[in-house]
Amino acid sequence: MDRTSICVACEYYGVLAVSLAVDPACRSRDEADALCAPHRAKMTEGYCVLCGLRAPWVSPWPNSAIGCCERCYRIIFGGRQAEAVATELAAKKGGAGHAWSRGWV
Ligand SMILES: [Zn+2]
Ligand SMILES: [Zn+2]
Repeated sequence: MDRTSICVACEYYGVLAVSLAVDPACRSRDEADALCAPHRAKMTEGYCVLCGLRAPWVSPWPNSAIGCCERCYRIIFGGRQAEAVATELAAKKGGAGHAWSRGWV
């Protein structure tokens, strides 16, 4: 992912009030530090960075643990794009799981 001092999740998901990342100098190699404090808290708990209620479904970045759940994705990007992602994930994983490497369910 491209790091700036802005939280990558705020930027990507188009949050109206974007926040600075907890590591605005981009010194940390931990991707969690590319997030603002509220997003970071949800991500490190293993939840969707947007709602913090459900497991993340898809990430905008390869091998990243930062992502949003299917419901939030549909709200932001719309049903058609969500269907395309679902098809892609199903093709990669044979219908189960998601595209990430960390093994979350
Ligand atoms: Zn954020
Ligand atoms: Zn969510």
